[in-house]
Amino acid sequence: MKINILGVPFDELDMAQAVDKVIGFMAEDDFRMICTPNPEIVMNARKDSGFMELLNSADMVTADGVGVVWASKYFGKQLKERVSGYDLAQGVFEKMKDTEYTAYFFGGAEGVAAKAKEEMEKKYPGLKIVGTNNGYFDEEKERLILEDIRDKRPDFLLLGLGSPKQEKWMHNNRYLLKGTVCIGVGGSFDVMAGNVKRAPEAFRKMGLEWFYRLVTQPTRFKRMLKLPLFVICVLLNKGKVR
Ligand code: UDP
Repeated sequence: MKINILGVPFDELDMAQAVDKVIGFMAEDDFRMICTPNPEIVMNARKDSGFMELLNSADMVTADGVGVVWASKYFGKQLKERVSGYDLAQGVFEKMKDTEYTAYFFGGAEGVAAKAKEEMEKKYPGLKIVGTNNGYFDEEKERLILEDIRDKRPDFLLLGLGSPKQEKWMHNNRYLLKGTVCIGVGGSFDVMAGNVKRAPEAFRKMGLEWFYRLVTQPTRFKRMLKLPLFVICVLLNKGKVR
């Protein structure tokens, strides 16, 4: 079942169901695209019709952010819980470690994806991360990165390029990535590498991770102004939602 929130179709899946669905995708031979929009991304998609179309063509869309879960409840539908890219990836790694499935990390500043690989392979012994690349490239480097990904044929490709760059990149390369399950994970490699701390569990449980990020990374303030705009937009759209 899909739940439409301001034009973005979210899958009604809890974390365990989402993890199983990703593993199911890996068993198939198709290109798959997974997006995990937060309120900021929903608001950006409302201003960018190409991006909105792309989100509507994704194979799986889960809610990164309590704001989206709240909106679903306000609209009388029920998204069960937040399924962020970071948490979803952790759940998938836990299952992948006992299989032959492979992953590839693409994104972040120089060295970050490589450090994230090291940390994740330590955390999930048996997990196979077959390649990494940083997320800053010109046309020539991009060609080499794509070639490397195609050579290594990962089952699970994580893109940490920020949104909408990561979603557009996977969509543009969908015909070259047959058999690969792609997910946009934003700044998750920074967290996996240990460079950025996630909010303490108490904050996450109270739905206040956004507040923690605002205090610890004040440069995000301007971006976060989209959150109150999202709330206003939800309040104004109640009657219009399917
Ligand atoms: N990034 C990248 N290439 C770019 C721009 C950004 O690899 O051209 C990386 C950046 O280093 C960071 C991530 O993308 O690791 C974006 O993180 P952000 O916090 O914006 O994403 P969010 O977690 O909010 O989706």
